[in-house]
Amino acid sequence: MMAMGPVLTVHRAAAEIGGNCIELSHDGHRLILDVGSPLVGDGADDLGMSIPRTLDTSKDIAGLIISHPHQDHWGLLHALPTSWPVWSGAACEVLIRMTASLSGSVIEQPFHTYHPHKAFAVGPFTITPYLTDHSAFDAHMLLVEVGGKRILYSGDFRRVGRKAILVDRLMANPPPDVDVLLLEGTTLGRTETFPTEATLEDDFVALFRRISGRVFVTWSAQNIDRTVTIYRACKKAGRTLVLDLYTIDVLERLSALHHTLPRLGWPLVRAVITSSMKRLYENPSRMNTPTFVERVATSGNAMGAARLDEVRNAVVMLRSSLLRDFTNKGVRLGAEDAWVFSMWSGYLRTPEYQHVRAAFDAAGATFAQIHTSGHAAREDLEAFARRIGPRHLVPIHSFTWDQHLDGFENVMRLRDGEKFSIP
Ligand SMILES: [Zn+2]
Ligand SMILES: [Zn+2]
Repeated sequence: MMAMGPVLTVHRAAAEIGGNCIELSHDGHRLILDVGSPLVGDGADDLGMSIPRTLDTSKDIAGLIISHPHQDHWGLLHALPTSWPVWSGAACEVLIRMTASLSGSVIEQPFHTYHPHKAFAVGPFTITPYLTDHSAFDAHMLLVEVGGKRILYSGDFRRVGRKAILVDRLMANPPPDVDVLLLEGTTLGRTETFPTEATLEDDFVALFRRISGRVFVTWSAQNIDRTVTIYRACKKAGRTLVLDLYTIDVLERLSALHHTLPRLGWPLVRAVITSSMKRLYENPSRMNTPTFVERVATSGNAMGAARLDEVRNAVVMLRSSLLRDFTNKGVRLGAEDAWVFSMWSGYLRTPEYQHVRAAFDAAGATFAQIHTSGHAAREDLEAFARRIGPRHLVPIHSFTWDQHLDGFENVMRLRDGEKFSIP
């Protein structure tokens, strides 16, 4: 019998944002791209652990390739066979393991490291990872070659972050002869804005200069682009950046791989040690690194929450749980302070952030939103698709692709679980 060509199955994410799970099978071998939990919010709670119905977990796979460390791309790992071998970027693995520890889960699959632009083989599949620009650190697009076909998976990407030039370069010199482009479409139909991180830096500097009190900022500790933006703005405005234990830990672990990241020990960076973060780090079934807490506490650059009232020029990392710790220690918010929400505005409507908003409003503090999307704008998605010029464009990672297909050519609309034999 003549060998069939490779078959593509989008197990999930054909019609939703996140929960990505894509399979390429060829000649009895299977390659999985991402195994995300469906996106239901920012927190680690209620992640909807469902494995896609059409994903066969009873058989071995050649490999599972993770594009980046957002949970909607790897969050099902702990529910999958522990024998399945995983490949990811080095920093991606660090961040995945940290997130898992936060909630007390353990990743048991063996991990292998891939490197940007270095092709590697898994069974009959050759994979080339392209480091890209996204709100997650160490995010990659993945080119897979198998059975004479070439499949480019966009992962999640944007063109306004600190690595935008990587997307520009890929577009200037695109991989030739792409049979299938799996393209994310997160922002289609959403009201988002797309300023660059450099513009955000200017906005932060202006606000830091205008506000006479402290500026509390809410952002994701793993959004390293944003941490760098805020650190640089602190430097320009002469403010001290006060980070919680978790953010300090993220920067320290990533600094082992990327030496240019701000971290504790750099001028202007201070740590605040709160009781709940300390418990999290000392808990054997959570972060389990009491020595880290000890080291930060004795670094000469750490303070307790009670001292936050003394550092009037501080820019303070804030999450809703941290606000509780701060106020328990007597930190009083005032009209001279400000709160900046630096995440997707949808999260601001959740009860946990409505509660934070109410606390700052009650104090008469200034409120601002300084943020840019982690995903490409529609024009950038169109331009990207035109440059790649795939024989088949398979839309993924959006709830509203069907209303936004014009402007895109050669669209092959798949349903979750539908098999597509690449012609
Ligand atoms: Zn995603
Ligand atoms: Zn993402």
